[in-house]
Amino acid sequence: MPRTSDDFFTPISGFVLPRFAGVPTFMRLPHVDFDHPRFGDVDIGLIGAPWDGGTTNRPGPRHGPRQLRDMSTMIRAQNGATGVRPFEAMNCADLGDFAPNPADVMDSLQRMTAFYTRVKTAGIRPLTGGGDHLCTLPILRALAKDGPVGMVHFDSHTDLFHSYFDGTMYTHGTPFRRAVEEGLLDPKRVVMIGIRGTAYDSEDRDFAESVGIRVIGIEEFHTRGVEDVMAEARGIVGSQETYVSYDIDFVDPAFAPGTGTPEVGGPNSYQALQVVRELAGLNIIGADLVEVSPPFDASGATAYLGASIMFELLCVMAPKP
Ligand code: MN
Ligand code: MN
Repeated sequence: MPRTSDDFFTPISGFVLPRFAGVPTFMRLPHVDFDHPRFGDVDIGLIGAPWDGGTTNRPGPRHGPRQLRDMSTMIRAQNGATGVRPFEAMNCADLGDFAPNPADVMDSLQRMTAFYTRVKTAGIRPLTGGGDHLCTLPILRALAKDGPVGMVHFDSHTDLFHSYFDGTMYTHGTPFRRAVEEGLLDPKRVVMIGIRGTAYDSEDRDFAESVGIRVIGIEEFHTRGVEDVMAEARGIVGSQETYVSYDIDFVDPAFAPGTGTPEVGGPNSYQALQVVRELAGLNIIGADLVEVSPPFDASGATAYLGASIMFELLCVMAPKP
């Protein structure tokens, strides 16, 4: 039976309780955990991944979900550019955080896959606030269990390296190498956008080329512009199941300094939103916004941009494709 909008969870309006007041949840939605009587009604679950066990340089994204939730209370009901009202298109709720084991990487990966398997089994599409980029691997293990999916990946890094420190296979620089090896991603339906910065070698790029992953470097991005690049990206993933993974370090550190591995010369905060709007109509099975590191985010501007990107992701996930 089709639901009426009366059945949808509604964010608390700033006219009822000012936006600086109350317990912060993602976008002021109700907290609906696995035991909640209406858990089965949720269509899109906003989830916190408070874990940075894959971080190889400056840590801190384990604190991301709290800060993203706090800054997301600034978000209102309607998209200013597209007019989309996501909370009336699908039933959205804050599912809380998965519980990591901060002292054990492999245990945390397993816990996370178990959490997201419950989410997928309930028919809920996850929108995750990280966490470092290794978090995307256990999410894909849950979502792509039945076959490989496509991916649109915004980042200044490919995260396609084989290993770190002579054989460490699970870091935030390796999740998509593992995901391709494990058959979670169809490399021919993967596009990586915004790649830049210094490197030690080209091993990641060589791997991308060898398996058919399309890498759009920042020079090409700036030369061609958002609309042209995103039209190509839509063509690569097509109408089949697609995951969207968004590393905040895609954005220039002038706008997003609060992250562990910033790279200069990136898109501005307007382009950061624009690229997501260009995903409208795709078959998006889940998305994440990762690598916000509050200890490096003195003003809170990075978390606010991150929360705003999560809202844009919600706006392209919520309407039926
Ligand atoms: Mn990344
Ligand atoms: Mn990155």
